[in-house]
Amino acid sequence: MDKKLAKEMNAQITKELFSAYLYLSMAAYFEDKSLTGMANWMKIQAKEETEHAMKFFSFLIDRGVKVELDAIAKPSADFKSIKAVFQETLAHEKTVTASINNLYSIAQKVEDNPSLVFLGWFINEQVEEEKNPTEILAKLEYIREDSAGVIMLDKELGARVKD
Ligand code: MG
Repeated sequence: MDKKLAKEMNAQITKELFSAYLYLSMAAYFEDKSLTGMANWMKIQAKEETEHAMKFFSFLIDRGVKVELDAIAKPSADFKSIKAVFQETLAHEKTVTASINNLYSIAQKVEDNPSLVFLGWFINEQVEEEKNPTEILAKLEYIREDSAGVIMLDKELGARVKD
């Protein structure tokens, strides 16, 4: 595999694990507020991010590339509000989308077809990853300061199951 592509794919493992860590930190914030449904949503999100990391891990191994793990940064822990958490989620996913798009561009440049097919899954996944927090933020706009609305949204997010 092209050296730059291999290096950036290795870095993506760390980025996905950081995502898992960030969502786990958000889950802890919601648990602390007894918003167990929102905590459930974030814990599932964290598990998915770990799976994303493992997809890159396995792909690199399958391609005969040495996996090199980097340090995972400390995630934010103090969030101002429920809305602030989902705003940070959306902003974070946008940076991940940019990172995946960058990998795709490199793979195109070096005409690495297996990488392009592999990365196609992530391109689709990022559409979903940006859609979900966008929808939650829209609902929070309707809810505003209404606590009954917060409880209802918490219940809705509590119904999320890992697929
Ligand atoms: Mg991810």
